[in-house]
Amino acid sequence: METFLNRILSDAKQQSAVEAQLLEQKSELLDAMNETVEMNSAILAQVKDIVYNIRTEVKEIQPLKEAVEKIRGEIGCLKREVKSFEEKLKYPSLCLACGKPVMPEFKICPYCGETLKPIQEQIVTLEKYK
Ligand SMILES: [Zn+2]
Repeated sequence: METFLNRILSDAKQQSAVEAQLLEQKSELLDAMNETVEMNSAILAQVKDIVYNIRTEVKEIQPLKEAVEKIRGEIGCLKREVKSFEEKLKYPSLCLACGKPVMPEFKICPYCGETLKPIQEQIVTLEKYK
């Protein structure tokens, strides 16, 4: 009888030891889970920070984009002006025959009917007279 009781007691002790170990394992697991949750929330906070920073940067970039767009438009205007200036250079602004100012777009003088040639051709013509 005593042996039997001792066995039961010993079994119970062993059982409780096993349960204690299991509990400890579960507690470790919970700790690990808790750590993971804390880490995740830290990562989430970092992600939130990053998103906030990106939003701020996007807000800062927006006016820059508009400025770039404006500058691009201005460059386009300048390019057109340079082109029309080049166009004007190709043609004389004074009629060689009557000396009156003529529009660079004109190919015939509206005053005397002289054909207006590009400057290069005029130079060639002048050189022939030498
Ligand atoms: Zn003329």
